[in-house]
Amino acid sequence: MPNEAEGSGSVSAVVGSVGGAVGVDVDAGGLATLVPGAVSGAVSPAVAAVTDDGVVVPVVEPVRLGSDSWSFVHAAASMLATTATPTTDRRMAPMMPHRCHGPPIADRAGIVRGGAGSVGGVFLTDSFVLDELLDDLATLVSIESPSHDTAALERSALAVSALFERRLGTPATLVPSAAGPHVHWSDGADEPSVLLLGHHDTVFPAGTLRTRPFTVADGRATGPGAFDMKAGIVLAVHALAARRAAGHPVSGVECLFTSDEEVGSAASRALLEERAVACGSVLVLEPSADGGALKTGRKGCGTFEVSVTGRAAHAGLEPEKGANALVELAHQIVAISALGRPDEGTTVTPTVATAGTADNVVPASACVRVDVRIETADERRRVEQAMAALEAVDPDVQLEVTGDIGRPPMPESASTGLFETAGDVAMELGLEPLNGVFVGGGSDGNFTAALGVPTLDGLGAVGGGAHADHEWVDVASLEHRVVLLAALIGRLVDPDR
Ligand SMILES: [Zn+2]
Repeated sequence: MPNEAEGSGSVSAVVGSVGGAVGVDVDAGGLATLVPGAVSGAVSPAVAAVTDDGVVVPVVEPVRLGSDSWSFVHAAASMLATTATPTTDRRMAPMMPHRCHGPPIADRAGIVRGGAGSVGGVFLTDSFVLDELLDDLATLVSIESPSHDTAALERSALAVSALFERRLGTPATLVPSAAGPHVHWSDGADEPSVLLLGHHDTVFPAGTLRTRPFTVADGRATGPGAFDMKAGIVLAVHALAARRAAGHPVSGVECLFTSDEEVGSAASRALLEERAVACGSVLVLEPSADGGALKTGRKGCGTFEVSVTGRAAHAGLEPEKGANALVELAHQIVAISALGRPDEGTTVTPTVATAGTADNVVPASACVRVDVRIETADERRRVEQAMAALEAVDPDVQLEVTGDIGRPPMPESASTGLFETAGDVAMELGLEPLNGVFVGGGSDGNFTAALGVPTLDGLGAVGGGAHADHEWVDVASLEHRVVLLAALIGRLVDPDR
């Protein structure tokens, strides 16, 4: 963390202005304040300033530098991203600090660097710089990217593309879609042999950064989407950069980070399936399971909605004239719950229900949503057929069933070979032995595995709390993940090494 002296001093640059005519000043104690009229003709809109010593501060309200400046720096970045036009955004990008004050995080992480061995074509040298990786993670996390928010996803995609350019020399291609741009990077090799796959959308709504800005504390990096899965994007880029720094080409590698994984991948599925088949193997940078375990299999999953339409009537005067949609729904929920077969890994869980309008009205409508998880294609078929075959108990109501099991299961057979290779690589690197687990949550790896493309998942960050406010990334393990991934990529693009 910067001390008070570091944060004090005058402003060396104002990144835009608020309302077009407001600057910022920082007093000797490090307190940044708005100064109306201090900047004439400044670009608008903007919300941040850069002080003499390179600290970026938001200027929406006075802030005292030196007390959590790390958070302010990245909150400022996020505010820039949410207020600037894309054009302005690009121009402002170089103004982001490349150094972050504070104790060397690498030291805090207690990482012992490897020797001079070579595994998978990666020489374990000092080329990896944890501070740079954390800077990149801060940049991505500080640009919010909720699914469905295409303007935010555009900014996020530009930031991911800029990350490729910064670390690998060439930007990525933005592939437009109805769900926002996907980010595709390739070195142009004719015959790619591995696809690094992930997503840049997150489940967190816009504005989450205000209460939970990117932060590194106690060995944990936090912020919306840090774990799932902006850290995975950064790991992929740094693994490729590590290979290149060690003198190994990154040819044969493609990266694809989509914009709609968290909402079902409808706008990216065709593209990711095409690139998976073209590459022939897929490494998914989704977060790891507990303790860094890789995800060697995933259940298939889907959501159904069952709607009942009945007939309203006065519950006191003439209830017999109604058709009670809620009572019908109760019958259906019991029948739906009975479709689960835990022994075969099938769970069928009614999750959200609504019904009725008032205390004294026979409900005319009712609805339930149902989460389904399956492990086999047979079970997928069975549950889909059973849901489609639901029939109303009350002849006076209508039943409508929509939905399907959109993500097929990712069978463990799809990951067997890659998991063995990863285990060998980890052993040669002297890393902890790798664990592999079968998990209930789905990812885009389900799609690629279902096509028969070898797929290994969970190669992203170690940490926990995916989709929850307490999500976190274990900082100490980041370097090992980079090295593991870089070496595994080496094995896939050049199996003889
Ligand atoms: Zn994810």
